[in-house]
Amino acid sequence: MYRMLQDDTTTPHATNARAVSVMLPTPVVGPYDYLVPGDMDIEPGDYVHIPLGKRDMMGVVWGPAMGDVDTAKLRPIEQRIDATPMPEQIRRFVDWVAAYTLSTSGAVLRMAMPSPDALTPPKPVVVFQLGTPVENLRITPARERVLSILRDGLALSAGDLARKTGVSSGVIKGLVTAGALDKLEVPAPPPFEDPDLLRPGPELSEAQARAAQFLREKILSNAFSVTLVDGVTGSGKTEVYFEAVASALTESRQVLVLLPEIALTPQWLRRFEERFGVPPAVWHSDLSQVQRRVTWRAVATGNAQIVVGARSALFLPFDELGLVIIDEEHESAFKQEEGVSYHGRDMAIVRAQIANAPVVLASATPSLETRVNVSRDRFQSLLLPERFGGAVMPSINTVDMRVTDLSANRFVSDKLVKALQEAITAGEQAMLFLNRRGYAPLTLCRTCGHRIECPSCAAWLTEHRFRKRLQCHHCGYQVPSPSICPSCENADTLVACGPGVERIQEEMVSLMPEARIGIMTSDTMRGPESAQKFIRAVEDGDLDILIGTQMVAKGHHFPNLTLVGIVDADLGLAGGDLRAAERTYQILQQVSGRAGRAERPGRVLIQTFQPEHPVMAALVSGNEDRFFELETEARKSGGWPPFGRLAALIISSRDARVADELSQALARCAPSTPDIRVLGPAPAPLSLLRGQHRRRLLLKASRDVAVQPVLRAWLAQIKVPSNARVRVDIDPYSFL
Ligand code: ADP
Ligand code: ZN
Repeated sequence: MYRMLQDDTTTPHATNARAVSVMLPTPVVGPYDYLVPGDMDIEPGDYVHIPLGKRDMMGVVWGPAMGDVDTAKLRPIEQRIDATPMPEQIRRFVDWVAAYTLSTSGAVLRMAMPSPDALTPPKPVVVFQLGTPVENLRITPARERVLSILRDGLALSAGDLARKTGVSSGVIKGLVTAGALDKLEVPAPPPFEDPDLLRPGPELSEAQARAAQFLREKILSNAFSVTLVDGVTGSGKTEVYFEAVASALTESRQVLVLLPEIALTPQWLRRFEERFGVPPAVWHSDLSQVQRRVTWRAVATGNAQIVVGARSALFLPFDELGLVIIDEEHESAFKQEEGVSYHGRDMAIVRAQIANAPVVLASATPSLETRVNVSRDRFQSLLLPERFGGAVMPSINTVDMRVTDLSANRFVSDKLVKALQEAITAGEQAMLFLNRRGYAPLTLCRTCGHRIECPSCAAWLTEHRFRKRLQCHHCGYQVPSPSICPSCENADTLVACGPGVERIQEEMVSLMPEARIGIMTSDTMRGPESAQKFIRAVEDGDLDILIGTQMVAKGHHFPNLTLVGIVDADLGLAGGDLRAAERTYQILQQVSGRAGRAERPGRVLIQTFQPEHPVMAALVSGNEDRFFELETEARKSGGWPPFGRLAALIISSRDARVADELSQALARCAPSTPDIRVLGPAPAPLSLLRGQHRRRLLLKASRDVAVQPVLRAWLAQIKVPSNARVRVDIDPYSFL
């Protein structure tokens, strides 16, 4: 019987017919009530097939009936799927994320929903073993090979048998027909092997051992807590949290490690495997359907004890979660901007709270938010102040581009070129960092001044010279690189303006023809394999100079890399982004950390037009605390996060007039209290994106205001026309 309903005798809908609420993985406002057929056993969390209009859908039983529709009008559940129900923790998490982000639970449930075939148990495998002895069996050499290998009681699949004995499937079939082999079905083996917890980790330094011990105690306490592991790159943060992983696994708890997608490198996986003997389960957007299904199931059934994944792994059906690790916690890539806008780090902390589990945040450059949480004693912090093995931090200097003469089409200063030559002569490796894909960010006509823009975005097209195309980095639109100006139709007047990584490569090839130069960007790395090959090449010393975008900045450990050159350090500072300085500091610090990670000391040269900027000053002096003090002061006095709250409304429509009218209507009924301010409407910096005209409003409130009810009341006053959209972004990180 369905207990929840039996207890529920006071509400009018508790009639003889049983009903439950079912959440559907669609953005509609659910859940909806359905009848439970008399012979069906239904529990909250059960996956069910239900009719919706003319469609058949899969949903999740959410709880007691809402009672808003007369039971007589309800339709029955069609089928209960025989699978491990969605854990209560996940259902609570879905509701929580929905309420916080102002989405519907259905939209969030969609991220937690398996594909239907993940719920069907894997097909059993057919294996063969010796049957009862058959008299007068004709024995051929092939038959004998099969029989002898099975004689010690083994059961093997046809494939394994064929591989081990070299016989054809006909031989096996013949033996079955003759009755000499029994064919039977056994459950498929679990997809993930258990990590080897008896393997010793490395011998830890004193500071590392202390940190590991602290985390171990957190795990044994079985309580929610957040601990920041704050250590320079190469200090052994990963080794330390591996110890925490080992103790959580020893306690038979599941572990989730979140990495920004870009840091999910083969190197990280290899390190895990070296430590624990087996690879972890992984979860990211590039998984195949089959991998997705297998992994989802393995988490639900408890076979996958550890998952390392991108933020979407938060919605996997862990039922025994005992530790959550967020590596590179400062990464803004944890923020999801499409669909439900949520911050992976913040929601991971919520998820851990629901599971009553400790959280470990790791970073060499913790975010300002996290630093403030440490100073408020909400988070604890562990410091690993030194690089492991005595490696020293690199020396960092700026190259003042205001006083550097560069001929046309040169972007790398003589000073940096000289340093590159020195490094290579010494048999060392170097890295050049420029956070811009392609060859040039702008193509301009020298004759008429026309700039080639994307037809559906307010953005220039980036030239990709290798592929001979112009491409929009916002919507993906691309055209073959034109030879005549699309506006004045003159030939040979188009010029590339500004550098991307491809152009830096061209420059290096012409300046240092002997050097072996490689380029690593999301355009050149198609999938994890090509990235792995590339990383191997660097590790094996097959490359002298590595040029790349932020893809090269993270996680890699190249012992022989001693020089890092930053081609344009000012790139991220432009624009009105609240976190521009912080983010620039973090990425440059991160890239700098690639230099001199082993015995040989590293050096970093930063090309900048603003050497006196606080970001550059902090990098050169190593005085990070001073920089964050200034940033904190600025945020505090301005009432910006984390000292105040922000929510953005992004209004979009194909019709510019509709977008304007809607944003003005919203502005007219904006909440107005002493502790809430609404800024805008203003055209978004990307005022046109994929053909949509975009306007922004920003709600800024003091910290003690719960912005969700305020926003709900505000939005309720407006009817959004069908040809427009209002997207709500709580705690926005992108202001484009
Ligand atoms: P972080 O995560 O702080 O950047 P890592 O954990 O990646 O640092 O450590 C940097 C390098 O030093 C890695 O190659 C790691 O294997 C090595 N290392 C760190 N701690 C130890 C240790 N205690 N014993 C041996 N090697 C270590
Ligand atoms: Zn575009």
